[in-house]
Amino acid sequence: LQRIENVDPYLHAFLFVNRESILDEAQSLDEQLEKANPEEIPPLFGIPIAIKDNICTQNIPTTCASKILEGFIPPYDATVVSRLKAQGALILGKTNMDEFAMGSSTENSAFGPTRNPFDLNRVPGGSSGGSSACVSALEAPVSLGSDTGGSIRQPAAFCGVVGLRPTYGRVSRFGLVSFASSLDQIGPITRTVKDCVTIFEVISGKDEKDSTCAPYPAFQAQEIPSREEVKKLKVGLPREYFSEGVDSEIIESIQNTIDFLEKEGIKLVEVSLPHTVYALEAYYIVAPSEASSNLARYDGVLYGFRAQEAAELQEMYFKTRTQGFGKEVKRRIILGTYSLSSGYYDEFYLKGMKVRTLVRQDFEKAFEVCDLLLTPVSPCLPFLFGERTQDPYQMYLADVFTIPSAMAGIPALSINCGYARSLPVGLQIIGRPFQEGLLFGLGLLIE
Ligand code: GLN
Repeated sequence: LQRIENVDPYLHAFLFVNRESILDEAQSLDEQLEKANPEEIPPLFGIPIAIKDNICTQNIPTTCASKILEGFIPPYDATVVSRLKAQGALILGKTNMDEFAMGSSTENSAFGPTRNPFDLNRVPGGSSGGSSACVSALEAPVSLGSDTGGSIRQPAAFCGVVGLRPTYGRVSRFGLVSFASSLDQIGPITRTVKDCVTIFEVISGKDEKDSTCAPYPAFQAQEIPSREEVKKLKVGLPREYFSEGVDSEIIESIQNTIDFLEKEGIKLVEVSLPHTVYALEAYYIVAPSEASSNLARYDGVLYGFRAQEAAELQEMYFKTRTQGFGKEVKRRIILGTYSLSSGYYDEFYLKGMKVRTLVRQDFEKAFEVCDLLLTPVSPCLPFLFGERTQDPYQMYLADVFTIPSAMAGIPALSINCGYARSLPVGLQIIGRPFQEGLLFGLGLLIE
């Protein structure tokens, strides 16, 4: 709490700090600890965890960094939160984000941006910018983020920490405020791969409260292969991820890691994912379409904010949504409503879904000749505030390497692999569905 007090006025990683009750909760854990058998104390016992503000926390405000949810206090915990609490973890607070997780820089928060701990003039990435910055700046040991198209991995890379986007369906989305339901996943943001494993073991596994959660057991650290086994893996380098648009210093940093892996005896093969260039465009049809439907529920009646001075119901809806949503959220609602409307559905949404299948098949083909893929997380280093806000397409491009795996529903891990111009560089390891163990294995070797 002291660290947050000292550092957060500069960073603004937190939207809410659980100052009052966390000390009482810690006190009661202390009492339990005295009676407990030391061997039975779970690894997260007493560990404070920061939670992205689109994950519901009982009796703690959950705003999605949107004015429209101001004052909303969920009466229940998301499944991930109740699983963490059941292990003795403490909820430290709620972290800043792009409004409704739409963005790549945390500049879309209705409550002001978060700053990058490496350079306060630069963005921490997004949308889980607060969850990444607070772990990087030692305000929290670990946090949870959400990743729809890159929002765990890209900010983790920008802040020099570890982030996992799990296989779609491996972690329950119950209590995660929906953005694009076929893409959203919750995952850990941590300082080390080992911490990431510990959190993932607790939050993963089937959940009756989420019908899209796979009937698959929770992850266990035993699934991680030994160092010797990892060295026998074949790692693919997708040509399309090492193209001209990537910052040359990022490529250099990744190349150093590749050289290291070669020395360790790992076989590297070049592969091609030819539909990569279409993934971003298809994502910006599919994600806004689902968002426009999901965000229809914010009407001034059910949750949070309601505009005043409306004479009748339609006007109340109109004013509430006009005043409550920010610019980027409105852009997505308009785009999504358009591509779902009759006459355009086949031309846009259905076409987007077909491209999505092609993107997934690219990965399936690649995994016929290798076990894992290694890529940059983002083509760019953390950028300056305002640098990309005028041109949404430039902002969208920050996620060009994280969107394809999200569209395919496969797991991807982001870890730090060095620094360029004193800024962190992120490396991404992508794997087959439910093979998070392999990602961790390679991550541990590189770290
Ligand atoms: N930046 C992407 C978007 O704005 C991804 C966001 C996310 O993963 N939540 O949609």
